[in-house]
Amino acid sequence: MPKIIGLVNQKGGVGKTTSAVNLAAYLAAFGKHVLLIDIDPQANATSGVGISFSKLPFNLYHSLIGGILPEDVIRRTKLFGYDIMPSGPDLAGAAVELVYVKDREFKLKDIVDKVGRNYDYILIDCPPSLGLLTINGLVAARELIIPVQCEYYALEGLSHLLNTISLVKENLEKRLKIKGALLTMYDRRNKLSQEVKKEMVRNFPGYVFDTVIPRCIKLAEAPSFGKTILQHSPDSEGAIAYRSLAEEIISLDNKK
Ligand code: ATP
Ligand code: MG
Repeated sequence: MPKIIGLVNQKGGVGKTTSAVNLAAYLAAFGKHVLLIDIDPQANATSGVGISFSKLPFNLYHSLIGGILPEDVIRRTKLFGYDIMPSGPDLAGAAVELVYVKDREFKLKDIVDKVGRNYDYILIDCPPSLGLLTINGLVAARELIIPVQCEYYALEGLSHLLNTISLVKENLEKRLKIKGALLTMYDRRNKLSQEVKKEMVRNFPGYVFDTVIPRCIKLAEAPSFGKTILQHSPDSEGAIAYRSLAEEIISLDNKK
């Protein structure tokens, strides 16, 4: 079975998508077969790998609601071993349409169960909310990465997130666990960044990845070219950090 990892934080703009897109690229570069599932109607991960959702006949919405086979929705990216289940704006409607559907929290899990055997890793890029789409992401995932931006309000909202994760574990998906919190947009010249890091390590001992993602303009630029950092600027600090995160994750998984 693949490792199924959700990237989740209801706070917006903390680096969920940047981390999902680029971690997937380096896992693929290390020879893993990776599927990135974009469950955010903003479709940032989809455009981030150079796919224009407006040109696609189907996206995740059509699999979640319309019964289209996931295999017919999944697209190859330009990187070997790196596939994506694209999103599109119509996915915003899915959250509403699913409300009246039986087992509505398990729709993404059903899809993952169908295609999982083709992959070593499945990454799920969640939207910035704790609504039904994110709940589908939490139920489908076995492990979670929580990106935390190194800024003043970083820890605010984390207790609400942890509470939601506990509820999902108790009521829906008992095997779910937190793989780690990932510090993003770290600026080593900024005292606040250092304080957020200390605070996180103190509050979540053993749960903070050793790898810290620095603030790096190349990471912000890459999606405008529809490229991962591996393709756009493989020597940048941001690229080195995501490569090291992929190594850290593979080595954690090998120890199990
Ligand atoms: P949302 O909640 O809207 O889905 P998100 O959590 O997925 O947002 P991203 O889209 O990955 O966050 O990042 C937010 C913004 O910050 C983007 O413009 C992105 O390019 C930029 N960004 C992310 N990580 C970094 C970084 N390490 N250095 C510089 N800019 C970054
Ligand atoms: Mg995002």
